[in-house]
Amino acid sequence: MIETNDPAIWRNFLPWPSAETHKHTRGRLAVVSGKAHQTGAARLAAHAGLRIGAGVVRILCPPDAVAVIAPAVQAIMLTPFSSPEVLGREAAGSDAIVIGPAAGLEDATIANIQALALSGAVLVIDADGLSVFKGRTAELFAVLDRDDILTPHEGEFERLFPGLLAQGRETAAIEAARMAQATIVLKGARTIIASPDGRIRRNENGSAWLATAGTGDVLAGMIGGLAAQRMDSFDSACAAVWIHSDAGERFGPGLTSDDLSDVLPKVLASLWKG
Ligand code: AMP
Ligand code: MG
Repeated sequence: MIETNDPAIWRNFLPWPSAETHKHTRGRLAVVSGKAHQTGAARLAAHAGLRIGAGVVRILCPPDAVAVIAPAVQAIMLTPFSSPEVLGREAAGSDAIVIGPAAGLEDATIANIQALALSGAVLVIDADGLSVFKGRTAELFAVLDRDDILTPHEGEFERLFPGLLAQGRETAAIEAARMAQATIVLKGARTIIASPDGRIRRNENGSAWLATAGTGDVLAGMIGGLAAQRMDSFDSACAAVWIHSDAGERFGPGLTSDDLSDVLPKVLASLWKG
């Protein structure tokens, strides 16, 4: 039987700061941005990571994107990279890294992911970071660790695991997690989260208001933000999916993806005190 993604399961594992907490011990998140004309996704993810509690959040971006991103962020640090080698070096020391949103479908994205995999950080791979491995999943699986997290919507899932969805979303997610040996977040109205150790949960509090551009990028940043705080990867994914949906429901009509992070304090306060 599939377990419902209920906050009671993971709530006690949510990372809250204490008197001893310092921003650097609270979790360091890095988000990799796309090119200068595609920086919104990284900004959405980075802001969400900060809101969910990562102590330090950085955007790593192509050099020509610095001038675009700098005026649009405040507490988020910005580091340019000009090659996969530089990216890998600059990302060292991160606890979690989000890559994929608006990353582009060029081979450079694969090289970047390969370089980041050497950092030892938890990787959250989304969007183009998944689609770029279409027909090349062996290369993706070769770089994944068990604590890494893939966040495909059904289209991206189909590209990576052709035909698997015909077995039903639950079975497909379990099988994909087994094949990838990583956590799979199969997004949709009822998102399925599957772990390589066989744990599986279905999110029942989905919010239809989330059906708008950029909400997936926010979710990737939230998952990365929790994982950076050293919450277990599967629990980070489950908690972020539930919190993301609750934020969508709380905001309701007119939601756009950049509203979501601003609702997070209310959702987090309800889980903290409630
Ligand atoms: P993406 O497809 O990457 O843009 O991500 C969209 C996000 O919104 C995912 O977290 C989905 O689970 C969520 N979402 C999209 N449509 C719906 C819907 N109709 N009901 C609930 N959640 C949705
Ligand atoms: Mg997406």
